[in-house]
Amino acid sequence: MSDKKMTGGHPGGHPGGGHPGGHPGGKPGHPGGGHPGGHPGVHPIPQKNADGSPPLRLIAWEITRSCNLACKHCRAEAHPEPYPGELSTEEAKALIDTFPETGDPIIIFTGGEPLLRHDVFELVSYANDKGLRCVMAPNGTLLTAENSVQLKEVGIQRCSISIDAAEAKYHDDFRGELGAFDQAMKGIQYLKDAGIEFQINTTVTRNNLHMFKDIFKLAKDLGASAWHIFLLVPTGRAAELGAEVISAEEYEEVLNWFYDFQKTTDMQLKATCAPHYHRILRQRAKEEGIPVNFENFGLDAVSRGCLGGVGFCFISHRGQVQPCGYLDLDCGNVREIPFPEIWAKSPQFLNLRNPDTYDGKCGHCEFEKVCGGCRARAQTMEGSYLGPEPLCSYEPKKKPKK
Ligand code: SF4
Ligand code: SF4
Repeated sequence: MSDKKMTGGHPGGHPGGGHPGGHPGGKPGHPGGGHPGGHPGVHPIPQKNADGSPPLRLIAWEITRSCNLACKHCRAEAHPEPYPGELSTEEAKALIDTFPETGDPIIIFTGGEPLLRHDVFELVSYANDKGLRCVMAPNGTLLTAENSVQLKEVGIQRCSISIDAAEAKYHDDFRGELGAFDQAMKGIQYLKDAGIEFQINTTVTRNNLHMFKDIFKLAKDLGASAWHIFLLVPTGRAAELGAEVISAEEYEEVLNWFYDFQKTTDMQLKATCAPHYHRILRQRAKEEGIPVNFENFGLDAVSRGCLGGVGFCFISHRGQVQPCGYLDLDCGNVREIPFPEIWAKSPQFLNLRNPDTYDGKCGHCEFEKVCGGCRARAQTMEGSYLGPEPLCSYEPKKKPKK
């Protein structure tokens, strides 16, 4: 049985209780910056691994699914009680041993709430000793002065904290707990005191769109290294959000706004799980006569919109490997197949790397190579992970393949 079927939920998406393991991103001057829980900074030039597979840049690893919050958009529909079948400490360390064979991935320790796992510091320390870059996606409410110092000591380089509003009332409502906003603010202060950089992740919904400038200002005032906005994938609890999910046309507006807004700040901004932002960026840059290169657009210029199965993957608390936390495709379990073999040979990953397998407009879109469409929304809203991205309003100019 797949992990999703078991929990009915949304496995480790992206850090920050919302979206751990988003996508690599960044602006010029921030080549190493990234996305804990989003997609942290990533090596922009892909080369092949010895077995021919693409280098894995980023792994979102759901070390536990247990969580102390009940966020409205949670892919995992997580709850505080322990989940059966979590990888043991020994299994987790054996898994870490295999990560370098797949490339030089950044590891996003995510959940659930990663701090609820009893051996979290031991695992981070182990991965750090192997030379792996480690980031974390806690929800912020369990951070303390003590555990923040510990996180620094074991090698966590960045944390992502989800903030969905500039004021407590809306954020608390979204996160399902009174006081969550204030606790997250305290958590951020603990991280700062411990010398750990942090980024703010914000999930885009119809209810908080009007607050975006205020949320950005808050992130800036707090001293965040980055602000990542996440487009909802309506799965897990988010499937019930209904009217809060904005339409394809509204996404187009938001992403165009984001393109313009990026120019007004030096802060690293990233539209995550919005693959078609990579189309919009190129369309707008062409109109404006700006070359799309790393100097002008950072990692957005050299990375792909959706990296699920291409440069990114998710590993569930029970060892199931998926293209991402929002796409519950069982690509193999590390308890049965060595992780590097899953990454290199899983039929689903091979499909995701080959646009000829895509159905619908994404398969013949001239922006496919830089975008790819969200495969999780295609699965949830269109019934097939190889289907068209439902929240992109673009109609490709190229003709459909026969
Ligand atoms: S499938 Fe969607 S949610 Fe998953 S990594 Fe790609 S864009 Fe993000
Ligand atoms: S049609 Fe698909 S590949 Fe083309 S821009 Fe839209 S989401 Fe991306």
